Amino acid sequence: MKLLLFDIDGTLLLTNGAGTRAANRAFENIYGISEAMTKIDAAGKTDPIILKEIFKNELNRDYSHEEAKELYKLYIPFLEEETSASETTVMPGIPRLLENLSRREDIVLGVATGNIEQGAWIKLKSAGLDHHFKFGGFGSDSHLREHLIIKAKERAIDHVDNGTDIQKTFVIGDTPYDINHGRAAGAVTVGVATGSYSRAELEEHSPDHLFDDLNNLEIVLGIFE
Ligand SMILES: [Mg+2]
Repeated sequence: MKLLLFDIDGTLLLTNGAGTRAANRAFENIYGISEAMTKIDAAGKTDPIILKEIFKNELNRDYSHEEAKELYKLYIPFLEEETSASETTVMPGIPRLLENLSRREDIVLGVATGNIEQGAWIKLKSAGLDHHFKFGGFGSDSHLREHLIIKAKERAIDHVDNGTDIQKTFVIGDTPYDINHGRAAGAVTVGVATGSYSRAELEEHSPDHLFDDLNNLEIVLGIFE
């Protein structure tokens, strides 16, 4: 059995700013500071790391567990609102690819994303892709992408038949974080230049496979044989 772990933002979809607007609103609501999230380069970072950077930028200190809880409590309904009010872009070829992979009996699909779990499901749902996934590793599991990838691998075991081994894990993502942490977690790494990093920038991190996008079904499926 092969496990395929997809990153969400920039890989499967783009929320076109809905995530940023929801985080901005949550931060403004509690701390009265506007556009806090807009100033952060969030690509490839986990939600806890993004939160740490926002606190450092705006308040020059770290956040407490309670503060994170309060912010996420507002962020989640704001994210629901923002994704409902705007269009989520699905990346080229993704629906066809996921439909194809979902039918394969030798493949199990999961996500490996820096989003906290509730946020991840809202984004996947807004793109109509949530039904392809039952589990994943999330920013709510760890601030370190390597660890949340390992968490997703552990959860995959519960989703395959008893006694079936996961022989190979693939991490598919749009940033150097996906490539470097995927490799550290023992996965085959697949870079895709549909997010904020160019093909050349991703190439510097030597992914095992590299694509401009995942639109060519035949070629993409070939790496999972
Ligand atoms: Mg990403």
